[in-house]
Amino acid sequence: MKILVVGAGVLGLTTAFNLVEDGHDVTIVDKTGPYAQASSRSFAWINANHKLPAEYHRLNRAGIAAHEEFQRRFASHGTWFHQHGCIMFDSTPDKATGYDERFTESAEFDYPVERIDSDRLRELEPAVSWPTDSGLFFPLEAHLDNEAFGSLVESFLEEADVTPEVAEVVRVDTNADGASAEFADGDTRNFDQVIIAAGADSGAIAFRSGLLLPVADLSQPGPRTHSLLGVTVPTDVSLSRIIISDKINVRPRHDGSMFVQIPSVEARTEEGESPELLDEVRVVMEAELQALFGKRIPVSRVIFSGRSFPEDGLSIVGYLDEHHRAYSLVTHSGMTMAPLLGRLVADEVRGDSSHLLSTFRPSRFTKGITQESPTNFIGRQ
Ligand SMILES: Cc1cc2nc3c(=O)[nH]c(=O)nc-3n(C[C@H](O)[C@H](O)[C@H](O)COP(=O)(O)OP(=O)(O)OC[C@H]3O[C@@H](n4cnc5c(N)ncnc54)[C@H](O)[C@@H]3O)c2cc1C
Repeated sequence: MKILVVGAGVLGLTTAFNLVEDGHDVTIVDKTGPYAQASSRSFAWINANHKLPAEYHRLNRAGIAAHEEFQRRFASHGTWFHQHGCIMFDSTPDKATGYDERFTESAEFDYPVERIDSDRLRELEPAVSWPTDSGLFFPLEAHLDNEAFGSLVESFLEEADVTPEVAEVVRVDTNADGASAEFADGDTRNFDQVIIAAGADSGAIAFRSGLLLPVADLSQPGPRTHSLLGVTVPTDVSLSRIIISDKINVRPRHDGSMFVQIPSVEARTEEGESPELLDEVRVVMEAELQALFGKRIPVSRVIFSGRSFPEDGLSIVGYLDEHHRAYSLVTHSGMTMAPLLGRLVADEVRGDSSHLLSTFRPSRFTKGITQESPTNFIGRQ
């Protein structure tokens, strides 16, 4: 089949890769270029932690397994999936309750979790000055070198002579025979199917096409849809795994630098992006890093970033039109689920419907759109 993939973020790329593997004639376009939006600014914690309801946990869990499989399959190309686990700690007086709840929830899902004490904390991450004597450890979780992963998938596409084109899709028309995509330069091209994987912009493309795809509008920033992500300078501090807490989220990067998020400043995204805000947040990040590592680690950049966020917080995956010509692939936690969803979308294009996706069909919104209540993203990314 002749298929257009709109968007070359992590989801568009993995989908194009699987469609090419299945022998389709694939065109992938991006209005800016590959990895232009959320995928390049992702904390990329690969996890199914506190992902509710159970169907969403199951999807994310399958996402972890798909990463394991992808890393194994292409191990000769390097290591981008670092499955060293995640340490979660809470420094508030309510920590015992918080740990109990998270431990019980994880155990109910049969999601590996360990209660850890100060000895184990020191054993796992000796360079950290732990402000706590207890925590939880999630051994299945990982951090992803998101850019390396995207570049690898892009290189596989290039080997198959599929190069992301810089082109903007305005709208899509479908009928029983196929789909036509209208581009910003006035061009119209015909395909058998179109996969809309344009992240936060997917809703607008669907709207212009007369299709219902409720994705959060990023023009009103706030902690539900935006985040402040710090990038440190490369440092000789040794950190092997992700740390998630009420004070700071931090993870190592491929070049010795770290990604940082600070829960207490996320609400400030409501102020909108300004140099003053980024500078103030940088100062807070550096103070928390100093407290955690007992050493000054400069933050070189703070990125004010929008998420691609379905209105109800859950993935929207499936056909949007009665003719099954326009398919939606929009989700948060796309880093966790990209290798899985890329494969499942290709299976569905072939006609094999996935039971893992049955809860996440676009048709659920015909009964109305429920916005997920504002949530603190810490511990749920
Ligand atoms: C700060 C932050 C932290 C995150 N942390 C995590 C995490 O820890 N774990 C996790 O699993 N996920 C995390 N995520 C979410 C994850 O990064 C995203 O779900 C994922 O990157 C989405 O990928 P995507 O391909 O759908 O979208 P994007 O990466 O946004 O790609 C969409 C692409 O579509 C293109 N496009 C848009 N409109 C058009 C058009 N009209 N025509 C052609 N092209 C178009 C854009 O240029 C863009 O390149 C985080 C996100 C953010 C922002």
